[in-house]
Amino acid sequence: MAEKRDYYEVLGVNRNASLDELKKAYRDLALKYHPDRNPGNKEAEEKFKEITEAYEVLSDPQKRATYDQFGHAGFGPQGFDWRQDFSRVRTDVDFSDIFGDVFSDFFDNLFGTARTGTRTRRNRGADLEYRLSISLKEAATGTERTINFTRRDTCPVCHGSGSKSGRGKSVCPTCHGRGQVVSQQGFFTFAQSCPRCRGEGTVITQPCLNCQGSGLVRVQHRLGIKIPAGIESGTSLRLRGEGDAGSSGSARGDLYVTVFVEQDSFFQRQGDDVVCEVPVTLTQAVLGDEIEVPTLTGKVKMKIPPGTQNDSLLRLRNLGFPKMGGYGKGDQIVRIRVCLPQRLSRQERKIIEDLKLVEDINNYPEVRKFREELSRR
Ligand SMILES: [Zn+2]
Ligand SMILES: [Zn+2]
Repeated sequence: MAEKRDYYEVLGVNRNASLDELKKAYRDLALKYHPDRNPGNKEAEEKFKEITEAYEVLSDPQKRATYDQFGHAGFGPQGFDWRQDFSRVRTDVDFSDIFGDVFSDFFDNLFGTARTGTRTRRNRGADLEYRLSISLKEAATGTERTINFTRRDTCPVCHGSGSKSGRGKSVCPTCHGRGQVVSQQGFFTFAQSCPRCRGEGTVITQPCLNCQGSGLVRVQHRLGIKIPAGIESGTSLRLRGEGDAGSSGSARGDLYVTVFVEQDSFFQRQGDDVVCEVPVTLTQAVLGDEIEVPTLTGKVKMKIPPGTQNDSLLRLRNLGFPKMGGYGKGDQIVRIRVCLPQRLSRQERKIIEDLKLVEDINNYPEVRKFREELSRR
């Protein structure tokens, strides 16, 4: 195996670089060597792993101190091999902090950590999901809701320390404070997060009775949320820092509110447009009429022209859904369904019979065309 390069050299920074300088150096290099930008390029991939490893160590003050003093030897005979312990990399480097969300999916894949409520960052609180149903009209206009949910807050008794006395932490007897345990499988040794202290290196001897030593308690929480107009069913709104509290005072997780839009008996969404079917009578369709039509924001009057055919589509401008990320609104499309009488009074029957006597086939172009074509066969 090739000699490991110096971490500072790998990142191209000097030995007293600040955390911000490290972050910037890593960001620039990671963007250059990212596997997504270098598909199939093994060399770039190796380079990317190398810089990630260097950053992983140097961005952690404790590991950096160990490295400064002992070099690669400070991490045991295997050196520091982050590939053996993905969950710890996940916990120690907040990639979304560095890149925003651009590559977070990539990192989730690389480290095999799906974005779920049990995200394995060591200190940051868990993300939570809340599912919410709203009506189609609320989706069109936007709405506000107050939601009630349970989340973990810092324990008020021990202030999150988890300890009864307030200073009851002692060195973890399993890993002797290293936070890692090494196991042997055949020729290979694997460094893993210590299961007892979960990598913290310390354990609580006298746990707080209120939170059983976790430092966190479950509490009911009320939160007002704004749902934007035009939202599509299944959209998740991310509310930063509204998830579970982190342990020992670190950042809260996020709350994802997933919004489901209920079916509506009148309306169907089609992109930014909304479709509504309106049944009319024979005479309304034949003579034309002004009809009342429901819209997402109330009823409107609408003219239908004489001779309106079944399945005609009429458009009401700007009465659809707001265009997400754009200006203006979609339209409402009114589909006219012409209904024939299911039975007739004596008087109606007389009139229809009279109509039949004077009926002119030229006034029914579709029927005439069909009959002409049929007669040519
Ligand atoms: Zn407590
Ligand atoms: Zn331990």
